[in-house]
Parts: sequence; structure tokens; C-alpha cells
Amino acid sequence: MEYKEDDFLLLSGIQHFAFCKRQWALIHIEQQWQENLRTIEGEILHEKTHDNTIKEKRGDLIVSRGMGIFSRSLGITGACDVVELHRASDGVKIFGRDGTYKPVPVEYKRGKPKEDESDALQLCAQALCLEEMLLCEIPEAFLFYGETKRRLKIILDDDLRGRVKTIFKEMHDLYDRRHTPKVKISKACKACSLTEICMPKLCKNPSVIGYIKKNLLEVEMEE
Ligand code: SF4
Repeated sequence: MEYKEDDFLLLSGIQHFAFCKRQWALIHIEQQWQENLRTIEGEILHEKTHDNTIKEKRGDLIVSRGMGIFSRSLGITGACDVVELHRASDGVKIFGRDGTYKPVPVEYKRGKPKEDESDALQLCAQALCLEEMLLCEIPEAFLFYGETKRRLKIILDDDLRGRVKTIFKEMHDLYDRRHTPKVKISKACKACSLTEICMPKLCKNPSVIGYIKKNLLEVEMEE
């Protein structure tokens, strides 16, 4: 099955979805957004890597920044922070360049490696787009973290690819139904930039327990 361009979702949403399905729906279905320090810092780092005016060529390596990407089979569109094109005899032709190259996406992140796999999912989705667009295979890719200033190699195995495909299917299903999942309080809520939009009543109360007690009391009094 192939999606039409009008139905494409933003690739970067997979990170929000992996963090919390409701957060993704609030941002991508309900168009809610709230900036906090984390998102602003992340954007500054991205502005640097997405500067399309920067083109680098170092020997057999070409560095392309902010390359627009899409996948019709996944129904997604987005951009790669960096795609490294390594000259190789078994690579693929790149428009406007002599020779053949192997593409390797590199995604830049503020902070350090996370416990969850949201960054790896996003990177894998980028590689799947590039494979579809350039008719190539990308067995591995890299995450670069601003805090540690280190690259982390991510092996794009069948399990990771399968999870990416399953997640985008679920995202399309929710989007088609314009369905926002209900609140599910977890430790992710502490680091969530949408807490006040997601749970406005809860934020005005001193604690979750206080909120639950208050609402239970209201229900009991009504009965
Ligand atoms: S506050 Fe919690 S439930 Fe609400 S969007 Fe954020 S992470 Fe999800």
C-alpha cells in the first residue's frame, strides 16, 4: 500500500509517539504545542545542523544537511539533520555527483543517550525513507549527542524496522480517526512539555493524590 502525499505524517512525530501517544496526538492531531527549555535547546542545535547553506566535501565524503525525505509506503515526510555520502564502488548514484555513494544518516540530539529507543526509531525511519528514495540499503546509522559530543552507532536490524513500521501504522490509524488517547500518568509526565495542556486541572492542584481525592469526593457527594 502507498499513501498519498496529502496523508503524509511528520516523521519526527515518531519520537513524540514513543514518548507518549497522547502527547503525539495533542501536537499532531490537535495542533497544541508548548515550548519549554528542552524544546528550545533542541531547536537551536537543529538550526545549526539544518543550515542548508553548509555543504561539505572532504575527500571521498560529502556531507548533506537538511535533506528532505519521504516514504510513500510509510506515509511520512521529514528531513535528515545530516546525510553522509561515502564514496563506494557498491554505492548508488547521487544526482549531480560523479561516482557512487553509500548514504548514512546522522541525527543530532541535545543531551545524552536516552533510556528509551525514541531516537533510534526516528533514525531508523529516516533510513527507511532514504532506502526507498535512493533504492539502496542502509544497515547502520548514527546518533550524535550534544552533551557527550559522541556518536552512537545504531544497527538497523529487522526488529527495529518492524517496530517503526508498526508505529507509523498506528499513528495513521489514530490520525484518520482524529483520536487522542486518554491520559495515562507515567514517569514521562514529569519531563513532558505539554503537561498543562494535557492535564490542566491536575496542574492547579498540589498533588495527583489531592486531585484524585477531590474528584472522588465530588463524585461521592453527587451520588
Ligand atoms: S502529561 Fe503525561 S499523559 Fe499527558 S501528554 Fe504528557 S506524558 Fe502524556
